[in-house]
Amino acid sequence: MDQAPTKIVLRGGRVIDPASGFDASADILIEDGRIIEIQTKPGSLSGQHQPGSLLLDVEGCLVTPGLIDPHVHLREPSVGQLHTETIASGSRGAACGGFTTVCCMPNTSPALDCVDVLELVQQQATKAMLAGGSRVFAVVCATLGRKGAATVDFSALSDAGAVGFSDDGDAVAQDEVMAKVLREVKKVDRVFMQHCQDPVMTIGSVMNTSPTATRLGLIGWPPEAESTLLERDLKLNAEIGANYHAQHLSSRLSIAALREAQSAGQNATGEASPHHLLLTDEFCDGYNTQAKINPPLRSAEDVEALRTAIAQGVITVLATDHAPHPPQTKDTDFASAAFGTIGLECALPLYAQALIETGVLNWPQMLAMMTINPARLVGLDDRGFGTLQVGGTADITIIDPEMKWKIDPNAFHSPCNNSMFAGFSVKSRAVATIVAGRLVHGEEALMGRNRPTGSATSDQTPISHA
Ligand SMILES: [Zn+2]
Repeated sequence: MDQAPTKIVLRGGRVIDPASGFDASADILIEDGRIIEIQTKPGSLSGQHQPGSLLLDVEGCLVTPGLIDPHVHLREPSVGQLHTETIASGSRGAACGGFTTVCCMPNTSPALDCVDVLELVQQQATKAMLAGGSRVFAVVCATLGRKGAATVDFSALSDAGAVGFSDDGDAVAQDEVMAKVLREVKKVDRVFMQHCQDPVMTIGSVMNTSPTATRLGLIGWPPEAESTLLERDLKLNAEIGANYHAQHLSSRLSIAALREAQSAGQNATGEASPHHLLLTDEFCDGYNTQAKINPPLRSAEDVEALRTAIAQGVITVLATDHAPHPPQTKDTDFASAAFGTIGLECALPLYAQALIETGVLNWPQMLAMMTINPARLVGLDDRGFGTLQVGGTADITIIDPEMKWKIDPNAFHSPCNNSMFAGFSVKSRAVATIVAGRLVHGEEALMGRNRPTGSATSDQTPISHA
């Protein structure tokens, strides 16, 4: 990728920066990894296009700060586990899905609970980005080995670059441990991200407690398993005042608890994932293991409550919970199948289907939930991420909001193809992604209209679809 032009002109797109409220047709000049100029007179920066630079006509497209996903599973390190994903494959898929930054979860093998493992992840992340992937930041464990007992060295991990703490995959269940975790994350000024699941209420649970579960003879997973744990956390945190974040919310009971804590002034946020915003537990019918997810798909009322919570600003962050699993762990009976679905390369149009096509949000509002809001959650806004600023880092996503396509997980970069959205027809797509001023992803549809027309200047781009 060394031959990539370091100078790029984006001409004529609808530039949307939710952080500043900017929303206008404009040109952007990028050089040496930075945004040099934003001009609201489209075409006014075309003169900056010189031999060796790249001029991209992005008229009709949305030009936004690079998308940020604060919750993905990249499965590295994976000692003694099946090969499902690497930081390289995951970050490459992220870039092709329009994400310039992702935060990986620490339920790896070994668990990401110490500086040594964190440094290994950071080294792989640097390599992956140089090879055309997104940036990867690490969320690390709150307890050693994610066992829910002894806590990690919060200040050492925080100093070494951890952007948040979580035992995702499991909740921090013990009250005393949870209180200690909240006090510690407050001291180091990071966020704690909770996977809200009461372990006792979900023994053997595989899908939402519902008529479908009863008919299929599967053990139910009550929505209270999420909300009671969340309520417990919010009660503890009312005294402590840490930055608290509830991951992948699924139930309307949880929304009510979160709303109440926010009204009381607590710094508590919540996130939603594409599947919980679009599908109900009936999708598990026929023992569809691709629909098996943690927390489970819920009822239509829950889907509606999540969308309303987004409209009202109770849930402010969108996250994929990208969770690759090899085929043999899904090609089995429902009770034994793995929980999870991949999401990085299809999340954007799924969010659009759930939130824009239904009129819940407009594009600037939805993009805020995918840029500046997740950046603030993990403290990356202080480093200039999640916004478009002259002089700032050129992490940019170009979206064609009208492009229609069909989701084919076999075309994705993940070694795994476990998507519950296979075959879904969607609209909108990240047609180009710029990370640190380099074009790392560009769709044929966009590049086709930007072919050089015999002039002396070269528009040849180092686009790799590998
Ligand atoms: Zn989780």
